[in-house]
Amino acid sequence: MSHRTADVAIVGAGILGLAHAYVAARAGKSVVVFERNPRAMGASVRNFGMIWPIGQPNGAMHQMALRSRSLWLEMLQAAKLSYRPHGSLHVLYRPDEVEVVKEFVERAPGLGYDCGWLDREATLARSHAIQPEGLLGALWSDTEFTVDPRQVLAALPAFLEEQYGVRFHFSTPVRSITAPHLEAGSDRWSAENIIVCSGEDFETLFPGHFAASGLTRCKLQMLRTAPQPAGWELGPSLAAGLTLRFYPAFNVCSSLDALRKRIAEETPEYDQWGIHALVSQTADGALTLGDSHENGLTIDIFNKEEIDRLILRYTHQFLRAPDLSIAERWFGVYAKHPDKPTVVMHPQQGVRIVASPGGSGMTLSFGMAEQSMVELGVLAGDAAHV
Ligand SMILES: Cc1cc2nc3c(=O)[nH]c(=O)nc-3n(C[C@H](O)[C@H](O)[C@H](O)COP(=O)(O)OP(=O)(O)OC[C@H]3O[C@@H](n4cnc5c(N)ncnc54)[C@H](O)[C@@H]3O)c2cc1C
Repeated sequence: MSHRTADVAIVGAGILGLAHAYVAARAGKSVVVFERNPRAMGASVRNFGMIWPIGQPNGAMHQMALRSRSLWLEMLQAAKLSYRPHGSLHVLYRPDEVEVVKEFVERAPGLGYDCGWLDREATLARSHAIQPEGLLGALWSDTEFTVDPRQVLAALPAFLEEQYGVRFHFSTPVRSITAPHLEAGSDRWSAENIIVCSGEDFETLFPGHFAASGLTRCKLQMLRTAPQPAGWELGPSLAAGLTLRFYPAFNVCSSLDALRKRIAEETPEYDQWGIHALVSQTADGALTLGDSHENGLTIDIFNKEEIDRLILRYTHQFLRAPDLSIAERWFGVYAKHPDKPTVVMHPQQGVRIVASPGGSGMTLSFGMAEQSMVELGVLAGDAAHV
């Protein structure tokens, strides 16, 4: 067994691990990343690729999302990776949805959101992918953008290696950590800081800490169309009325209770499976559709056809595109705490576990990484505006 060293050792090459590698390497640290699979296969390649600050609750989390967004853009430009900078639309078909959005838009400037109300005509002028029948208007925000997660997660390690000399060890599970040492593959490493970004793996490293943390898992069903015809662009990524009851940003609206009540009475099946609907577009032009939310430590390995049917039923009410036939179906799992937006633990001196940005890990990843580096003393406090 050979013995090697780095300033920062990172477990996991999902987006949180890569964001930590980027921020640490940019600060001049020598960084090594271990990923147990031949390539990232977790939540980070199974998502919509939405960088979505509009969903974050006002205050610290929204600020972190905005800071994370800036770091994302910096990284994408430096790595010459493409993204879709088209903003977001929450499209609305019911008067109670309009009421929530108008209330939100009125409070938005004071809360730090840059967004606005669009009437029916202005909404249709913004996107040709929206069903006009019954449309009342939309919440427009240009803060959001979309990456193709499979493309970014595959390309980012090569950029970090070339640009900053980050060392990657794929197909290399980290088996044990006793700081400053860790055992990975056939090597023993030591590092000043060890950062564990193991996603929903609660069993391999520090199982006692994970068990005591209150973290659980969330399973999401997803679908993807075939690539749309060349030249057809989604434009802004789409959400709709069900999303207003899902993202905590909208909890400031007193009119939300009535919306929740109506959905619970009229379509309890959406609440039963935690369904809301988002639409994004991948690099090859396909549309990613989803999703549902089933919480619990034990993940059902089978997808439920009923959930896919409900997601499609709702999505077809607001989305129009040349080809809505489904080419791919899958599910993703993320770690989630019932109350806390993120969980950070220090099981040993020199070890930091960064877990559970839940359904917002793409959005928050670079902001969380910067916060880690400030708290570890790798970056000065004023480097992070969080
Ligand atoms: C279907 C779905 C849609 C989503 N959509 C969005 C979205 O549009 N926008 C958004 O902001 N967020 C979204 N999210 C949330 C986001 O994807 C996650 O919060 C984020 O990807 C978590 O990143 P991670 O790096 O912590 O986990 P992961 O991507 O799961 O990565 C963890 C990695 O650690 C590795 N690992 C674990 N243990 C070890 C070990 N012992 N040794 C070596 N390697 C190890 C695993 O193999 C894995 O590759 C979505 C999530 C899902 C599931």
